Amino acid sequence: MAEHIHQCPACKKYTLKTACAECKRATLIPRPISFSIEDKYGQYRRESKKKEWKEKGLY
Ligand SMILES: [Zn+2]
Repeated sequence: MAEHIHQCPACKKYTLKTACAECKRATLIPRPISFSIEDKYGQYRRESKKKEWKEKGLY
């Protein structure tokens, strides 16, 4: 199983561990920068996909 990259909320360092080695704080999995943009257009993307599938007779 692939390890997730975690980020310390205190020092912003990236680690594969669930706790920061330096601050001993629990690390978080940072969201990709594009996440919010993708989410914003997710609805539109799904709709256009659906239309595409309909045109191809797959939906
Ligand atoms: Zn830290």
